[in-house]
Amino acid sequence: MNIVLFGPPGSGKGTQAERLKKKYSLRHISTGDLLREAVAAGTELGKRVQSILASGELVSDDIVLELIREAVASVRDSDTESGWIMDGFPRTIGQAEALEALLAKTGEKIDAVIVLDVDRNAVIERLSARRSCPNCKAVYHLVVNPPKVDETCDRCGADIIQREDDKPATIGNRLDVYEKQTKPILGFYNGRRPVHRIDGTQTVDGVTEQIEGILG
Ligand code: AMP
Repeated sequence: MNIVLFGPPGSGKGTQAERLKKKYSLRHISTGDLLREAVAAGTELGKRVQSILASGELVSDDIVLELIREAVASVRDSDTESGWIMDGFPRTIGQAEALEALLAKTGEKIDAVIVLDVDRNAVIERLSARRSCPNCKAVYHLVVNPPKVDETCDRCGADIIQREDDKPATIGNRLDVYEKQTKPILGFYNGRRPVHRIDGTQTVDGVTEQIEGILG
């Protein structure tokens, strides 16, 4: 089963993908995580994209498509994973078209596009309070879901951080980029792939339940 999780930054795609991957034996493919890992490791790719990530703009389609090609091929070769969940990809119509072309070559397809609807004000509130573990990727909200010990990840004990692009100066730009470049992809998928819209402001469990109801 192959799923695209779609929605603005802060809509809960990463949190839901982590839950779904276990239940359905899927790979969680987050282009944002792959790019941040490259930045943290100081690779050539990381050096090229670091300032773009910090600004909230998108990196070029070529760069993310290369990451996606590798990830999809590696899932295909995997004995333990039966498909993938894309989180943060595609983000432009060009990426959506390239993904269709890539999948057509191998006879694969997207089984469902799940859209997490969260309005702009709620996203700003969530992203401002979001803290992330750079080590194990756990995500916290300072008010709704704070770590038990200040600034420390419950799961692995690393110091949690505020992502550079979750700082107030960048949040507005990321939302504008989403509206202009990413949201039009829904028009591309309508009529082409099954698209399911979910209220992303429910509890985390509520959203998971609804997605599982759709996927079966
Ligand atoms: P995310 O963790 O999904 O919010 O992504 C963080 C940042 O990584 C984005 O603001 C972009 O700069 C970059 N990025 C992630 N995915 C993509 C993509 N599919 N296309 C272009 N840039 C991306």
